[in-house]
Amino acid sequence: MRVGFIGLGRMGAPMARNLARAGHAVTGYDVAGLAVEGLARAASAADAAAGHEAVITMLPDGPILRRVYDEIVPAAGPGTVLIDCSTIDVDNARAAAAKAEAAGLLAVDAPVSGGVGGAEAGTLTFMAGGSDAAYARAEPLFAVMGKRSVHCGPAGAGQAAKICNNMILGISMIGVCEAFALAGKLGLDAGRLFDVVSTSSGSCWSVNTYCPVPGIGPRSPADDDYWPGFAAELMLKDLRLAQEAARSADAATPLGAQAAALYEAFVAAGGRGRDFSAMLPHLAAQQHAAGDGNGET
Ligand code: NAD
Repeated sequence: MRVGFIGLGRMGAPMARNLARAGHAVTGYDVAGLAVEGLARAASAADAAAGHEAVITMLPDGPILRRVYDEIVPAAGPGTVLIDCSTIDVDNARAAAAKAEAAGLLAVDAPVSGGVGGAEAGTLTFMAGGSDAAYARAEPLFAVMGKRSVHCGPAGAGQAAKICNNMILGISMIGVCEAFALAGKLGLDAGRLFDVVSTSSGSCWSVNTYCPVPGIGPRSPADDDYWPGFAAELMLKDLRLAQEAARSADAATPLGAQAAALYEAFVAAGGRGRDFSAMLPHLAAQQHAAGDGNGET
């Protein structure tokens, strides 16, 4: 396929490289002038769209995506599929798709999980929203860049799935960190607690696969001095998006709101650039405060 790829950052560059290695003719564009070996270089976003059968975007946020769509929608030929893999808010994702569809294009929102490692290894998971026809066109490209894709529903459903998943992850990681911090202060050995929890009703991905305690469980960022992994500020971004969506949909998410507040405090207190599981030493350094829901004392 002739593929335009816009946004060649930490995620976009390896994803585009994998498409080129698989034999697709990929033209790349990044506003920062980044180049990726194996890709033709476009002079503008519109150039990366014109004459291409698919255009993939991997950009920082919704307002930027909307500006890029203002350029690429008029430039793309009829029937082109626009695939946005950025993590953005649901409202902007739906508006971008509506703009594309009104111009006779196909649109899919397809945020990913798996991080930079998954992008490099081609093992990402795609959560897709859009029409059946749009998904069918995008699916062969997902199969190159990832190991799994799920068609979650119409436009915006991919972003909705992504922020719901990451809201669970943020809340569960905080719960796991609180339990291990409490265990430490109770004199309970973290390894024994892992042995119990990982095979009991408290088990979850945050314990079993990504344990925030160094030296315990499968290798995780905790074993690498909390080098990300999944950086705390990216978790904060997703928790904020979940709160925006909850406000917009009038949904009660009290723990999601609390998780966003806790990650905001952690990022402000030196968590930026550390893995999101470094919430453990952050919490362990604090004292109990009666009735203090946000853990800051
Ligand atoms: P990044 O900052 O490394 O890359 C974004 C790129 O977009 C940059 O190179 C930037 O120059 C480019 N860009 C910005 N505005 C542009 C424009 N108008 N036209 C063309 N290019 C433009 O970010 P990233 O880590 O690659 O993340 C990209 C997206 O993927 C984000 O939405 C992020 O939330 C999501 N995501 C990231 C991870 C991760 O672990 N890094 C994991 C899952 C999802």
